[in-house]
Amino acid sequence: MGKEPFIVGNWKMNLTLEEGVEFAKSLRNNLHGKNKTISGICPPFIFLKDISRVLEGSNICVGAQNIHSEKNGAYTGEISALMVKEAGCTHVLIGHSERRHLFGEIDSFINAKIKTALSVNLKPIFCIGETLTEREEGRTEYVVKNQLKNGLLGIDNNYVEELVIAYEPVWAIGTGKTASPEQANEVHSFIRGFLTDGYGKDIANGVYIQYGGSVKPENTRELLAQPEIDGLLVGGASIKLEAFLKIIDAASIQ
Ligand code: PEP
Repeated sequence: MGKEPFIVGNWKMNLTLEEGVEFAKSLRNNLHGKNKTISGICPPFIFLKDISRVLEGSNICVGAQNIHSEKNGAYTGEISALMVKEAGCTHVLIGHSERRHLFGEIDSFINAKIKTALSVNLKPIFCIGETLTEREEGRTEYVVKNQLKNGLLGIDNNYVEELVIAYEPVWAIGTGKTASPEQANEVHSFIRGFLTDGYGKDIANGVYIQYGGSVKPENTRELLAQPEIDGLLVGGASIKLEAFLKIIDAASIQ
């Protein structure tokens, strides 16, 4: 699509604070003035403030891995959109398959979180994707379409442009099985088509659609060579500095 690739690492529940801060410092030093690829990391909540300080003024953004849909209130153990913003986040992962499948998050909750994130100027990285059974039953497009339709319900056109959508087939997350570049591109085209039908070509083309699922340095270039893949959401390989740097490097020479 001719955009600078947007590469985001999802650290999940990994690393210590010290390791995370060291990682962020090395990332910053290694990327400084070197390439134009836009990158970001999503550390655990408790690291956000320290890591944001390290990355302040760089072109590496910081995202949270989750927020609650309400802005404040009696939600013990939850974190609000404004709290992560205050900790330095510009982005937030919403609807990651681990949240959907391990914590029972449903589309209406995800939709409410997207709206709350947008209302405080936090960019959602809205994750969608089918399970292996759904793919094998030929229901990939049906599932993805419903996740998009329900997740984006009631969101104004001008806000849709702010979104990053991450297509992450559940069967490819953390499994070592990557969707082939063609398989991924096919679903990305479907997503782009959905956005075009609903919001028009300009908005649809402006939305970043990332692929996620066992991304590694070796498959980065071929995934990003696909016309509809605008970036990558990286899990396992994003907590290994060398691998993550290689992914960003490979992305910047597309
Ligand atoms: C993810 O958790 O978003 C992800 C894509 O994980 P992995 O790269 O480990 O498959």
